[in-house]
Amino acid sequence: MSSTNMTGNKSVVIAGGGIAGLSAGIALVKQGYQVEVYEKRPMLGGKWSSWRDADGDWIETGLHVFFGAYDEIFTLMRDLGVYDHILWKNHVMTYTLSKGDRFEFRTRKLPSPFHLLPAALENKFFSWREKLTLIGALYPMLFGSPAYYAEQDNQTYKQWNDMMGIDQRMFSKMFIPMTLALKFLAADRISARIVLEVIGIFLRQNNASRIGFLRGSPQQHLIGPMADFITSHGGRIHADSKVERIEMSADGTRVAALHIRAGTAEPQPVTADHFLMALPIHNLKRLIPESLKSQPYFEGLTRLNGVPVLTVHLWTDKQVSHIDNCLFSPDGVIPVYADMANTTPEYRRPGDTDGANMAGRGSRFQFVVAPADELMSLSDEEIVARVWANVCDVFPDASANARIIKSAVVRVPQSVYGPLPGLDKYRVPQASPVSNLFLAGGYTIQKFYDSMEGACRSGNRAANALIARDCGLAWHPTQ
Ligand SMILES: Cc1cc2nc3c(=O)[nH]c(=O)nc-3n(C[C@H](O)[C@H](O)[C@H](O)COP(=O)(O)OP(=O)(O)OC[C@H]3O[C@@H](n4cnc5c(N)ncnc54)[C@H](O)[C@@H]3O)c2cc1C
Repeated sequence: MSSTNMTGNKSVVIAGGGIAGLSAGIALVKQGYQVEVYEKRPMLGGKWSSWRDADGDWIETGLHVFFGAYDEIFTLMRDLGVYDHILWKNHVMTYTLSKGDRFEFRTRKLPSPFHLLPAALENKFFSWREKLTLIGALYPMLFGSPAYYAEQDNQTYKQWNDMMGIDQRMFSKMFIPMTLALKFLAADRISARIVLEVIGIFLRQNNASRIGFLRGSPQQHLIGPMADFITSHGGRIHADSKVERIEMSADGTRVAALHIRAGTAEPQPVTADHFLMALPIHNLKRLIPESLKSQPYFEGLTRLNGVPVLTVHLWTDKQVSHIDNCLFSPDGVIPVYADMANTTPEYRRPGDTDGANMAGRGSRFQFVVAPADELMSLSDEEIVARVWANVCDVFPDASANARIIKSAVVRVPQSVYGPLPGLDKYRVPQASPVSNLFLAGGYTIQKFYDSMEGACRSGNRAANALIARDCGLAWHPTQ
């Protein structure tokens, strides 16, 4: 195999067909580069891939929502003509609790941060004594400087919470599901920095925490259109093609080739002018050549790891939830979930009723199951049983007569990179010290970490860095 330069422009090999790799590919084909994307799995989309099961139902790697705070992924989706495929939900966060208890944070159209004030005033679940313990924390949450946030990377969110004196019931009911939903890590493991940065964004921009769902599968409404853009602009995409080795040039200053195994064939070297690695951190670490490992840029990366997470899909014969939004739950193993029969119209089954009249429709849940470290080794049946016990606990009445008609479990042993305390300093700019090697992914520096927006930003920044190097221009990492 060898890369060809069909257009007379420079060639780029991109490893990884997730949102980061495809975003970079789009940015580069737009500039006339000859792009070849190599993806090890038969399907594209990485952590948001989706496929049809034997019944024709879509299965996703994990429940994904868009936040109003996102920016570059929306620009991309507008360019692709798919932005309108996002269905924005009411600006309310609903927490479902044990024994059918509920509380909500309902946001109003007021200038930030006052948009959240009614939510706090109207919330009856927490007492005034409990709510007042948040006052001291609000100032750093709202006005924390970048330097303040950076300093908080030395402790967990729980340590920060306790330092601020935030009430323990607020912590366990509100913040624990938030950290689990954010990066599938418990509050006593995740760095305070990322949690404070995200809360800061939610407080400072009044639409930032509003949630949107795609109206159907990511394959049809995002990943497919991204891939089509690349191929319709002269790029090529090779699925089932795994990068097995990075070969350095004899003098060690450049990447000479990627050795890629297509299907079951023997790996072949693929050459190009530039190489852009958009891989999960655990896959990238395995490929870093020995000769580079002692360089601080690459040495730091070897300290980062992916977090395990499970996704459970569950169909019921009767409707269990009427809520057309993302749901949070502090009680059990389902910190964030949705009934996609409500949120995602194309996931309804033929014959299901539409609109407000939901009689006759079953539920079609998708759950993020975390923390997953100890659940990973259980059988699918045991995992589904735990999830269903949680559903019965938070919807005791509606679940009483409902029956599971089908379920699916997706295991992701290493998903997003884990932002544990002390690790942020090892995230790297997209331009590596190797002159023709660029990295993209949530672990590269940009302010949206490992999310769809973070992946898209990292891909855009990697492409910009590559173009700047090609043109002999200075490139500075930006958030
Ligand atoms: C359960 C779950 C829920 C999530 N929910 C949300 C959400 O609600 N909102 C949000 O914004 N984000 C969410 N995320 C995060 C989001 O999915 C990721 O941040 C984003 O998809 C990462 O994209 P990426 O391209 O950087 O990496 P990936 O999607 O991991 O793509 C990397 C690709 O590289 C491929 N690859 C690996 N090794 C090789 C190799 N050797 N050769 C070739 N290819 C290789 C992989 O197969 C993969 O396709 C969620 C993630 C998970 C797991």
